[in-house]
Amino acid sequence: MNDDLRDHLARELAQQDARGLRRNLTGRGDGLADFTTNDVLGLARDPEVAAAIAAAALEHGAGTAASRLLGGDHALHRAAEGVCADWLQADAALLFPSGFQANLGLLQAFAEPGVLFVSDAANHASIVDGCRMARAARAHVVVSAHRDVAAVERALKHAAHAPRRFVVTESVFSMDGDRAPIEALLDVCERHDAHLVVDEAHAVGLLGPRGAGVVSELAERGLDVSRVAARLVTGGKALGQSGAFVVGDSTLRAWLIQRARSLMFTTAPPPALAAGLIEAIRRARTADAARSTVLRNARRLAAALALPEPDAAIVPFVVGSSERALELAQRAREAGLDVRAVRHPTVPRGTERLRLVVHAFNTDAEIDRLMARLRDEARHATRSASPSIGTARALAVVGTDTNVGKTVVSALLMRHARARGTARYFKPVQTGTDSDTRTVARLAGLAAVEWLAPLHELPLPASPHEAAAAAGVTLDPDALLDGIARARENARDAALVIELAGGLRVPYTLRFDQGELLERAALPLVLVARSGLGTLNHTQLTLEALRRRHLEPRALFLVGEPHPSNAATLRALAHVEHVYEVPQFLRLNTEALDAWLAQNDLEPVLSPRPNPSIR
Ligand code: PMP
Repeated sequence: MNDDLRDHLARELAQQDARGLRRNLTGRGDGLADFTTNDVLGLARDPEVAAAIAAAALEHGAGTAASRLLGGDHALHRAAEGVCADWLQADAALLFPSGFQANLGLLQAFAEPGVLFVSDAANHASIVDGCRMARAARAHVVVSAHRDVAAVERALKHAAHAPRRFVVTESVFSMDGDRAPIEALLDVCERHDAHLVVDEAHAVGLLGPRGAGVVSELAERGLDVSRVAARLVTGGKALGQSGAFVVGDSTLRAWLIQRARSLMFTTAPPPALAAGLIEAIRRARTADAARSTVLRNARRLAAALALPEPDAAIVPFVVGSSERALELAQRAREAGLDVRAVRHPTVPRGTERLRLVVHAFNTDAEIDRLMARLRDEARHATRSASPSIGTARALAVVGTDTNVGKTVVSALLMRHARARGTARYFKPVQTGTDSDTRTVARLAGLAAVEWLAPLHELPLPASPHEAAAAAGVTLDPDALLDGIARARENARDAALVIELAGGLRVPYTLRFDQGELLERAALPLVLVARSGLGTLNHTQLTLEALRRRHLEPRALFLVGEPHPSNAATLRALAHVEHVYEVPQFLRLNTEALDAWLAQNDLEPVLSPRPNPSIR
């Protein structure tokens, strides 16, 4: 490696360090009680599973050294698939080298132009990346709020003309440990002719008949689960090894062999892995006693920490900052407990946590020790567990371009919000001498306490990076993000409308633009576009760029001369939940805003349905 590249990487790493976000490879904490791995049934340390792997390796060799399509396929792979399909009472299964690859391959194989994927906001990174690949194949992806069935339904309704619709969810979420409303999702899928993809990584082994997962549980209760197009079973969680099965119809299996690039172009797993999985499934099927122990202990731990009752083995203990999470994990380690911090960007900023995983082999004494360690902290942490408690309900107002009407939309949002409770307006970076803060304050009739002063007021009417240079300052991305985080804390419990600058690719510095700011601040947002000529292109390009960052606007505002055809086209194409039209007001004043608000309800944008999860 040459010096330039090494220096660059070293600088970036130093920044990760400075933000407390440096990640390290770590092994099992030797001699510590395991509250971190996903080996909930203890099968990773099971001698019989290990013996099955060893015997198969001796008999069939170390590995395959070929793709399953080019000589790497083995009878043991197919045997493991049969055992897994039988366990889940399904037609067929297909073994991938990992769950990450299985999700990528599955979503990519379903993706075609115009197909819709609705993905839960808390879905695993492999689903997020699978959706990104689907987008590259010109599928549409809508990210729905966590466990929000109504949002899923709205997205499906908007996509009635899509060739196919898929709803993608985990059955037990990996970071929050809560269960997806699978029954309600099945119902919505049935009514809107959509298909459900269920990642059962954290459910299989623990929930359902013989540990066969949530979908099996519903099937056993007599529900029609034919809307489930595919389930994912990972070998690296309760089965204690690695690899993953996509479980479903034999036609799906055949299709994946044609289409799933993460299967076609990767080396087949060693036959010994398949042998290990067969043995692990055999053990998991009869592990009812271990399952009850895990669930009972997870509930006992959660109750002691005043947390909601967990649905499976994962107990998320939210502390709200990376530093605190790291410090607590370190203190737990000193007490002999292997507990790990989960930080942003794995979880949203402000929900940094200890992800506690309870295992069948954890002793009562170990669990008591963990409870004792965390109980004091719990008294403090439960107060700040949710970012929606004690911090502002923030909403960013983003434009497709400059001068599209963000300020009017901000004023409308503020006018609506202050009539229903406390509201604050914040424009972090003001460029030009016409102050948007003053305009919004005038239009929405704000008192001085209802707006926060900008972090920067830069007189040149130009992009923030240029206006900053002209004023002799440099904008610091971390300081901007801290400023926004502080505004959210200070505007406690209020609705906080944050008006951002220009369009998405507007630079704050040459290496940090609006899109990155939105992504890193993890702000909910609305998109403002002009209603007239050119908006179809600009709006869809902006939506594409937002969604590539996994950002989903709650609403689209079309501002200016009414253009019914554009509004209708965007309602059909944009897949945004709410589309509002805001005319050019003859007189731009409070009365005009109130007249518009009398005809249009902004409540679903400012206060979407309460979210049952910790997010
Ligand atoms: N899906 C979910 C829900 C997961 O939690 C994980 C692993 N953390 C995966 C998929 C990926 O599985 P693997 O580790 O086998 O790649």
